[in-house]
Amino acid sequence: MISMMQAAVVSDSGGVNFAEIERPSEPRPGWVLLRVAYCGICGSDLHFLGSPLAPAGLVMGHELTGIVDSVGAGVSALSEGDRVVVLPAERCSPGDEQCPSCAEGATQRCHRQQSTSIGIVIPGGFAEYVEVPASSCFVLSDESSLQVAALCEPLAVALHAMGASRFQPGMDVAVIGAGPIGLLTIAALRHLGAGEVGVSEPSPYRANLAASLGATTVVDRATRLSTTMAKSPEIVFECAGRSGTPGEAIGLVRPGGEVILAGVADPAEMLKISSIIWVVKEVSVQGVIAYTTEEFGKAVELIESVEFDPSLVISEIRPLSRAGESFAELMGPNEQAKILLSVDANEN
Ligand SMILES: [Zn+2]
Ligand SMILES: [Zn+2]
Repeated sequence: MISMMQAAVVSDSGGVNFAEIERPSEPRPGWVLLRVAYCGICGSDLHFLGSPLAPAGLVMGHELTGIVDSVGAGVSALSEGDRVVVLPAERCSPGDEQCPSCAEGATQRCHRQQSTSIGIVIPGGFAEYVEVPASSCFVLSDESSLQVAALCEPLAVALHAMGASRFQPGMDVAVIGAGPIGLLTIAALRHLGAGEVGVSEPSPYRANLAASLGATTVVDRATRLSTTMAKSPEIVFECAGRSGTPGEAIGLVRPGGEVILAGVADPAEMLKISSIIWVVKEVSVQGVIAYTTEEFGKAVELIESVEFDPSLVISEIRPLSRAGESFAELMGPNEQAKILLSVDANEN
């Protein structure tokens, strides 16, 4: 007998509809079935919607926590009832034959992800149940919050951006864009001992959050940071993903400094950068994507530690049935940070 479940599904018109779909049955060997608790709406979900990357019928959602409902054959590390957060893809495990990226330690570029990215190529967490690889589940303590743990994935992105940079405690830095990734970068920079943290963010709501999470100077435009920070920042984290912001980052950073591009602009947008400033100031520019498996583990550890509290980044928790309107709201100008969709109202 086929059983059904509720899910938010990409529609033919490029929106998201609340629908009843077939519930996954027994998990395959090495995988587990999760009862989803919370799943965050990510900027990449918004970018993909309406493009061939989000075909009609796809269940998106890759920032998820849940509870193990059943385990597939051969799974010994997890059992029914475990509370977990998911690294949303299957990657080469130490015992496997390694793909070329994993062999060189760049697990963020693991080739297996092309066919196993949860919520991108296989069904994700905007549903009551999702099947995920057991090796992608990180078990949470009984005390940790399934809501806050849904921030592990974007926090891992922030830790990867920092890890790719020359960041050292005491350094003055700037963050352009205080969306969820920018806000988590600010929180992590502050936690790991940054000096001055200048932030530009046009939304008053998100600018306030940036200040609450430890930004020392907050302005509405990146160009204003050059006159409001005491010294030019050594590193600028570009987390806005607009066509003009990488150029503003290069203009802002100190000579010989570093710009980390963590924001993703729309594919049709071209960067507006003055190469003369880039060259004359000898600025290093580094793009970053996702996170290593180790960095994801560090994000889980950080979220579980009592000294680090990024819960302010969650601006609202809404039931899954409000997925459609939440996507529509986030696609336009808004005063939100991270919206979590709550799949199981009994969990916290
Ligand atoms: Zn994400
Ligand atoms: Zn791999």
